[in-house]
Amino acid sequence: MVRPKHTALLLMLVCLPALGFDVCVEAFLAMDTAYPEERLARIKRFVEGLGEEIPSGLALPKDLKMYVANRPDMRMSQAFSQASHGENVIHAVNAEGTDIVHEAGHVIFDHNLFEISQVPLVQEYREFRKQFAQSLKSNDQLELEVKALKTKPPSPERDNAIRRLESQIDDGDDFRLRLKEKYNRVVGVERAHPISCYSELFSDALAFAKFGKPRVMVDAASKRMKEQFDDKTIADIQRGRDFSADLKPEEWPDKHPYNDAHLYYGPTHSFIGQHLAGKSKAQRMQFMEVLFRAIENDMKNHLTITADGRFYTNARTTEQANRDLIDAIKLESTTSGH
Ligand SMILES: [Zn+2]
Repeated sequence: MVRPKHTALLLMLVCLPALGFDVCVEAFLAMDTAYPEERLARIKRFVEGLGEEIPSGLALPKDLKMYVANRPDMRMSQAFSQASHGENVIHAVNAEGTDIVHEAGHVIFDHNLFEISQVPLVQEYREFRKQFAQSLKSNDQLELEVKALKTKPPSPERDNAIRRLESQIDDGDDFRLRLKEKYNRVVGVERAHPISCYSELFSDALAFAKFGKPRVMVDAASKRMKEQFDDKTIADIQRGRDFSADLKPEEWPDKHPYNDAHLYYGPTHSFIGQHLAGKSKAQRMQFMEVLFRAIENDMKNHLTITADGRFYTNARTTEQANRDLIDAIKLESTTSGH
């Protein structure tokens, strides 16, 4: 098989003095990133402060890492994010307010899901991600060894060693492919994984809760989509992340790009916007726990693992999934009084 290029990560750990918070944030910079230390410290304090704002039923992981780069380098940041799965990484490109909160949202969501939730699907998913990340990490290591060997003068021994390492790398690639097959489109092609869809909604909602601006994530949607779609489609999909939109589940097509993980719960964004209209910041933050519990219940009710141990890919239409989640939010909100 053709071996995909996988770039080893070049990172620099920036140590910042502890500030007495409960949460310890470590920041990793891309090598080419010249961040003024003062600015980095500000970002770090911002994230730690966020930990104090989230409701008591949700936890921010204590060992939090941030990957910060000046320029958006998706390949690097994705590689970092993948290689660090299970290690509570905020991957922040051009890290300022909105992006950071959205990325922190993913970490908070995963942490609470993996550490606290007992939904069986979640524990399976966690195991998948762990194995996937371990395999990626050991491949990174092997790639580095190959690179080092290639700087040495050619010899039969050197060439043999390179061949041996490359075959190990191929084995790792095959292992991850088989893992993906077993866990049925987890790192999804045709359809986004349901847990990713929940996670994107949760992260957008956290940015809205924090800043109170319903259109806080709209630009993020357009930036990503600009190269791929025409203006009409962009305008349409921007509404998917707009908490002041008025999308109904039946308006949301069950096709790309509408069922992309970021847009999948478009109508639920609209519902949350209406639900939180006029609420204070404290109430909006409290709602994040309501949303988390609603998502958990929705998972319990609608996502299972098949008898042969495969993930049950979300077979609901986007319309049905949005209806179900909106109902779950309404129920949890009534029960909790938030
Ligand atoms: Zn996201």
